[in-house]
Order: sequence, then structure tokens, then C-alpha cells
Amino acid sequence: MNGLYSLDSHYDAVVIGARCAGAATAFLLARSGAKVLLIDRQAYGSDTLSTHALMRGAVLQLKRWGLIPTVLAAGTPAIRSTTFHYGDEAVRVDIKPDHGVDCLFAPRRTVLDPLLVDAAREAGAEVRHGVALSELQFAGSGRVIGALLRDAGGACMSVRSDIIIGADGRQSTVAQLVNAKAYVEGSNASAIVFGYYEDLNRDGTHWHFANNAAAGVIPTNAGRCVFAAVPNSRLGATFRGDVMRGFLQVLASSFPKLREDVDRATLIGRLRGFGGATSYLRQCHGAGWALVGDAGYFKDPLTAHGITDALRDAQLLAIRILDGGRAIEGYQHERDALSMPFMRVTDAIASFCWDIDGIKQLHDDLSAITNMEVNHIASLSQLPSLAA
Ligand SMILES: Cc1cc2nc3c(=O)[nH]c(=O)nc-3n(C[C@H](O)[C@H](O)[C@H](O)COP(=O)(O)OP(=O)(O)OC[C@H]3O[C@@H](n4cnc5c(N)ncnc54)[C@H](O)[C@@H]3O)c2cc1C
Repeated sequence: MNGLYSLDSHYDAVVIGARCAGAATAFLLARSGAKVLLIDRQAYGSDTLSTHALMRGAVLQLKRWGLIPTVLAAGTPAIRSTTFHYGDEAVRVDIKPDHGVDCLFAPRRTVLDPLLVDAAREAGAEVRHGVALSELQFAGSGRVIGALLRDAGGACMSVRSDIIIGADGRQSTVAQLVNAKAYVEGSNASAIVFGYYEDLNRDGTHWHFANNAAAGVIPTNAGRCVFAAVPNSRLGATFRGDVMRGFLQVLASSFPKLREDVDRATLIGRLRGFGGATSYLRQCHGAGWALVGDAGYFKDPLTAHGITDALRDAQLLAIRILDGGRAIEGYQHERDALSMPFMRVTDAIASFCWDIDGIKQLHDDLSAITNMEVNHIASLSQLPSLAA
């Protein structure tokens, strides 16, 4: 159902943004008995910029939520190995069973986001696409108490809610309206160009690193996502004017074997690009509001961890909202303890100021941090139930 038709006037939670962070949060809250409204200004099942790689923590979340059969039913290939290419050296890592996860996935966002939305709807959340948040409503105390929503036809409706959750991405309207400030910021960003290729036969995921460049091959639904990345200071010099020429040039000069594979494969559709953005941690809760996903925490896509963290933080936030009282006050601390080491290493990788030994060391650091994160996700308690 679209538009503002038949909305109630009061919810336990209104979630703005219905992709991985928002839909997962709405699902968890609704499944625990909360009355939830989930909205997005874009269409159900629409695409967004992503290279799709899920890390073990994300697959663990989808598994505990019972969603892996739906991921598989969409034809998402299981990924059983990851190969790091450092110049001419290839280091293959098989995905070992751990925490009940024995393979990774990289579902297209046209698969992942709607399956999370469907799960939220089935759990009892009301879902509306084509509806945007335009204003927040504040009590005299400064507490957020409601939202003004607008549908594609221009109709408006105001809803009251115990909490408004901004899962509305990097340009978060909720963050702007509550004046949530970034208090940790990175310095580096990569520019990324990617496309989907048919008939590019490589086993598992591949990550390539060379002087001032990176690339990757990620198996997704119906083809492989191939990306090339450079420091964003080189965006114009590399891609401006002719993106395809720049993309092939990066591969030819830094990753000639990958360029040969791409030349033999067939591009589906067109290349897409992301000019880069520096990382941040923003204040992520206040009276009557919270942020989850990129709205509160962003890092360079080169370490492919935004979706994993969105699914992690959906659970951190839902647990604290359902615990009630002052429990939400620990959300930011818990998110930051898990995120800061990862953000620091990601920023160092996005600087491209490393040699081959340096990037290997950064990957070892990432691996240790990621293992700690997976242990933390695995230890998260089952959600309390409002209905109990
Ligand atoms: C090029 C690129 C490649 C990436 N590759 C990977 C990868 O391989 N693996 C990985 O884990 N991560 C990757 N990421 C990061 C990942 O895409 C993000 O971390 C993730 O999309 C964040 O999800 P989210 O739900 O927080 O926000 P988003 O996906 O940004 O969704 C926000 C939603 O909010 C909606 N919205 C915004 N404002 C409003 C409003 N006012 N009213 C209503 N709705 C609103 C938008 O329409 C949107 O649908 C990549 C990012 C980029 C740019």
C-alpha cells in the first residue's frame, strides 16, 4: 500500500528509510510487538549504489532472522572463498564455518532491501514507499514527538511516535532536523566505479591492491560486480569525460589480468560511480530520536562493511529501545566501541598511502577487528518482547 492511506495517528516507532538499516530495525521492533511505521521516499525494490559484499556478521544476522532461504531463493550465489591480490601475489582464504556461517553472500540491493522490508511487513510493521519525512515535531522540552510526512502527490499527514528513527542514509533529514553533529571524522575517501559483468568466471570474491588503485570482483545475483577505485583526489583525472575509458585504464595499468578477464566478459547495463565521502560518527540518539546505519555512521566503501554494520546496529538499537527507560543511552557507546577501530583502519586504507606490506598489515588489523565484531554480534541477546 502506498501513500498516507489509513495511517494511524500514533506509533511506538516511526522509521525513516526502508533499506538495510531501517527495514531491519523495523523488522526487529515489530517482531517484538511494537507498533511500527516504516517509510521511504523511494520505490519498493529500487536500486542504490553498492557493491553488495556482506561480511560474516551480516550473514549471521540474516541467518538468525531466518532470511537466508529467501536470499538463496533469489538466486544469490554462495561465496566460499576470498582472494586478496597484492601485486602478483594471490592469497586465497576459504570461508571456514564459524558461528553457524559457512559462506558469504553479496545480494543485489534490489534483493536485500525488499526482503528486509517484506520481513518487517510480515512481522507487523506498516510500510509506505513514496512517502518522505519533511518535518519533525518537538515538545516544549525539545523532545521529538512526531513527524510530518508527505506523499508523492503532495498530501501531508502528521503522526505521533515514542521514537523517530532516522535510517535515512548519509544525507539524513532526521540528523539535520535534530542537529546531530559528527564528532569523529575521517580524512580520506576513494572514488569508485563499478559495473555488472556476465561470463566473468572467477571463483569467490577477489580484492586487488596496487599503488594508488584497488579493484574487486564480487559474485552477485546474475553476474559479477567489478569495481575500480582510486583516491578521490584523482577522480577527475581518472574518470572525468569518459568513465569507461578511465575504468579500463585503471584495470589495465594496475591489474592487467583482471582487465583481460573483463575484456572477455559482457557488461550488463552501464557503469556507475561514487565520487567518495569521508567517514564520520554522528551523535546517534537524543530525546525521542535515534539514528541507525549510514545516517549515524559512515565509512569508505573500500572495506565493504556498511551493510554489515547497518544490520548489526539495527539490533543494538532495537534491543535498547525494547529494554525501555534509559537503556538507549548505552547505544552510542556500544556502537562506537565496535566501530572506531574499524573506521580508523578503513580511513587508512582509503588514504592509499600504503605499500604492499602496509596494506597486508591493514588487512590483518581488519581481520582481527572483524572477528571481535562477529563475536559481539553472536553474543547479542534475543530481543525482549513488548507483547510479553
Ligand atoms: C559505491 C558504494 C559501494 C558500497 N559497497 C558496499 C559493499 O560492498 N558492502 C557493504 O556492506 N556496504 C557497501 N556500501 C555501503 C552501503 O551501501 C551503505 O552502508 C548502506 O546502504 C547503508 O544503508 P542505510 O539503510 O543506512 O542507508 P541507505 O542505503 O542510504 O538508505 C537510506 C534510505 O532512506 C531514504 N530516505 C532518505 N531521506 C528520506 C526522507 N526524508 N524521507 C523518507 N525516506 C528517506 C532513502 O530513499 C533511502 O532509501 C557501499 C556504498 C557505496 C556508495
